Amino acid sequence: MSNTNTMYTRASSINRALDQIGDKWSLLIIGDVLWGINTFGELLEATGMSRGVLSDRLKWLEQVDCLKRRPIKGNPRRPTYHMTRKSTDMYDNALMALNWEREFFSDPELDRIQLLHKDCGKIFKPVLKCTQCNEEVKAADVEYAPGPGATQDLRQMKVRRRSSKSILEAPSARRAYKNLIHVVGNPWTANVIALAYHGITRFDEFRKELPIATNILSDRLKFLAAEGIFESVLYTQQPKRYDYVLTEKGLALFPFFMTLLEWGDRWCGDKSGPPMVLTHTSCNAKLNGEVRCDQCNEHVVAYRVKQVNRD
Ligand SMILES: [Zn+2]
Ligand SMILES: [Zn+2]
Repeated sequence: MSNTNTMYTRASSINRALDQIGDKWSLLIIGDVLWGINTFGELLEATGMSRGVLSDRLKWLEQVDCLKRRPIKGNPRRPTYHMTRKSTDMYDNALMALNWEREFFSDPELDRIQLLHKDCGKIFKPVLKCTQCNEEVKAADVEYAPGPGATQDLRQMKVRRRSSKSILEAPSARRAYKNLIHVVGNPWTANVIALAYHGITRFDEFRKELPIATNILSDRLKFLAAEGIFESVLYTQQPKRYDYVLTEKGLALFPFFMTLLEWGDRWCGDKSGPPMVLTHTSCNAKLNGEVRCDQCNEHVVAYRVKQVNRD
């Protein structure tokens, strides 16, 4: 069963995107379908989810137009699931997730896979670049200002069928971004990280932006410190209070969030325009990020990439 809570928060394309696809099982399903796992049975096996949770998330992802269901000829009761234009457009985001996963974790199967760019014929690493100055986009070089759509969002927080299982136990052979999903796929952890890029470090500042129960916020901050995303730095002794400062590992998640924000601007917005405008301080232009090949500097699109196994 699912029910709905509502709350107002500052309009944000990241929040809008997360409200659609940010729960851990939805992220895992999209990742698996992207890697070619298409039937209910295969998804059940690959994700290790219960039937109930899987069917709940598949329905939800169809509803938000991130998956489409196709009946198989002669077997209409066993459909296959496919990416839509909207979810295919998350490819930039998926590549940035993969980068982070590879930089901070090791997985023998995943490490064997290399990406070949058909445009230049070379093995490449995807890099988030500014289309204006061509430099790599780093968290420290971005400034934020309210955009035309800077209003408040009434958010329908769906409380969905839950599963206590950890994503790290998911048996999926690919598990391309399981550590990333473990970090960002819990309710509110991604919101907390996204706020940290705006320079927010203290409990009360996070609390002002996220009207959630104090014990939940405190739990999420501790979790992110334990995962090495934040370093907690004591700033007063009595009572003990901490600054939560992004680590190198936390800062390295920025391209994932930036591409999520751009996706949210494109697919989850309303007519009023983007809630936030980003400036690239390296070149002082309005920031438009694009994932490019580090070998030929062309924009990387899904159908121009081939996976090859290292021997
Ligand atoms: Zn630039
Ligand atoms: Zn290339």
